[in-house]
Amino acid sequence: KDFRNNVKPNWCPGCGDFSVQAAIQRAAANVGIEPTDLAVISGIGCSGRISGYIHSYGFHGIHGRALPIAQGLKMANRDLNIIASGGDGDGFAIGMGHTIHAIRRNIDITYIVMDNQIYGLTKGQTSPRSAAGFKTKSTPGGAIEPSLAPLEMALTSGATFVAQGFSSDLKELTSIIEAGINHKGFSFINVFSPCVTYNKINTYDWFKERITKLSTVEGYDPSNRPQAMATLMEHESLVTGIIYQNNEQPSYQEMVSGYAETPLSTEDLMMSERDFDNLVKEFM
Ligand code: SF4
Repeated sequence: KDFRNNVKPNWCPGCGDFSVQAAIQRAAANVGIEPTDLAVISGIGCSGRISGYIHSYGFHGIHGRALPIAQGLKMANRDLNIIASGGDGDGFAIGMGHTIHAIRRNIDITYIVMDNQIYGLTKGQTSPRSAAGFKTKSTPGGAIEPSLAPLEMALTSGATFVAQGFSSDLKELTSIIEAGINHKGFSFINVFSPCVTYNKINTYDWFKERITKLSTVEGYDPSNRPQAMATLMEHESLVTGIIYQNNEQPSYQEMVSGYAETPLSTEDLMMSERDFDNLVKEFM
């Protein structure tokens, strides 16, 4: 199965988003699905382009709204594997309300955030993930707000799958996304995906010097939520791997009465021209 298409990405050379694209393509192939079994839904930002770079169904949505579209699609067609994606500005600023509610809803989709701690598409402004003191052209005195902690936010919002990857470690990132696709519920995956053009602080080397892989932490148990939170605190969230997974909680779909019996995608929704005209008249 080949999830590559012939569209050439127009990301800057070295952008971390290339690895996220490759990891999604490899993970989808590894779990054994077909391109017609996958839909990639994205928001706005450099990261938002990803839905056009993968051989699957795709939808490039509006800013911060990848998750509502992805959830609607999953409810209409339960047979599709859905990956929603976007940047930290997209998901943690304008889209944050959707992010928290999708997490607590536990609907069976995989959400990948390409976290570069800056707005890249608009040429480098502070994002909710920029650290306090982070300077840009539009904040020359440095950000005065502290940075958001997405993994802790996900854990306290009731997430059943929380993971973090790094663009420089394609093998681990692929296996995390694979686990996310296989998870029966909402999978929240934050990826350190450096913006090589506008973020000169949080570079590949910056992360390499600081990241701890959870696979090297003795006795780490991803089913232990208090341990997950304590480990994040201890390492200032600079860890990669599956941080927390709960396989016991039913997904949203499993709890919706009638969902499995009558998927919308199998119903004949074609409307005659006359019925359509009558419907329009009702609203005139
Ligand atoms: Fe990637 Fe930054 Fe270039 Fe956007 S501006 S494509 S995030 S390196």
